[in-house]
Amino acid sequence: MARKNGILSQINDTWLKGAPNQNKKDVGFILNRIKQNVEQRVAATLKFVLTPAIEVSSFLDITLPGIHRPLGAEHPIIKTMREVVNVFRALGYSVAEGPEIEPDYYNFEALNFPPNHPARDTQDTLFVSGQEKKQQRDRLLLRTHTSPVQVRAMLAQKPPIRVVAPGKVHRADTADATHSPIFHQVEGLAVDTNITFSDLKGTLDHAMKSLFGSAVKTRFYPSFFPFTEPSADVQITCFKCGGKGCRLCKNSGWIELLGCGMVDPNVFKFVESNGYDARKISGFAFGMGVERITMLKYGIDDIQLFYQGDVRFLEQFA
Ligand SMILES: [Zn+2]
Repeated sequence: MARKNGILSQINDTWLKGAPNQNKKDVGFILNRIKQNVEQRVAATLKFVLTPAIEVSSFLDITLPGIHRPLGAEHPIIKTMREVVNVFRALGYSVAEGPEIEPDYYNFEALNFPPNHPARDTQDTLFVSGQEKKQQRDRLLLRTHTSPVQVRAMLAQKPPIRVVAPGKVHRADTADATHSPIFHQVEGLAVDTNITFSDLKGTLDHAMKSLFGSAVKTRFYPSFFPFTEPSADVQITCFKCGGKGCRLCKNSGWIELLGCGMVDPNVFKFVESNGYDARKISGFAFGMGVERITMLKYGIDDIQLFYQGDVRFLEQFA
């Protein structure tokens, strides 16, 4: 609409100059109507854009209370998982993750499970269907523990290594108050020269005190896992009764919390090509169930509550 170079002026000049003399009057008339039309529309638009407050104030009542959007919060499982991971991060561990669907090789074979081990039974392990023709080591399954991440971490990084692996795992369990086909674990692995069982005990004792309070004591019981030798179950003094005996600890004063052990030299054979020579290095590994720790910590008696998504349950942890 500018007088000199505006589009309207340009059209006006081009059309009017180009029109034959006998038509100039009609062209001028039409051009005038176009000009009026444009000016009216621009004026209306400007009025709408520049004066919204006047239009809006008729329906906006700023004295009404606003809409409250509640803040989300961490799920108790994630919260516990992060607490455990942070204890080990403070000790210099890095965090590793791996796939939830693994070939048998990473979930069992490279962790020293013999070919006929009962853990592979379909009553314990969820396999991907239609793989009967594949060799056992290539068959895909939903990982039954986070331990395959240890194998993957050792293949990716030469020793020394200190790594924790948090994540989701699956077992062919029927859901009840203490079982779920999906649950979570945090595993750890430390490999270096001269790592001994004392290092394992010291590390886990420190971790349990960080998680459950400096008053808890730990004790180690002989156990068995295919990928560690020797293996141990770790118990801590009941953090509810302090060891005197109560319902939570079934009057024993102790609560079993995790499994651990020195990495079996057979496991190192599978990653020997990346510098894990069992004659020169040693290491320890440990693993704990996140649901179990969370249930003990908050006094939750049904594991299913974690997965039902009931806000009344979840908001108690916000
Ligand atoms: Zn107790």
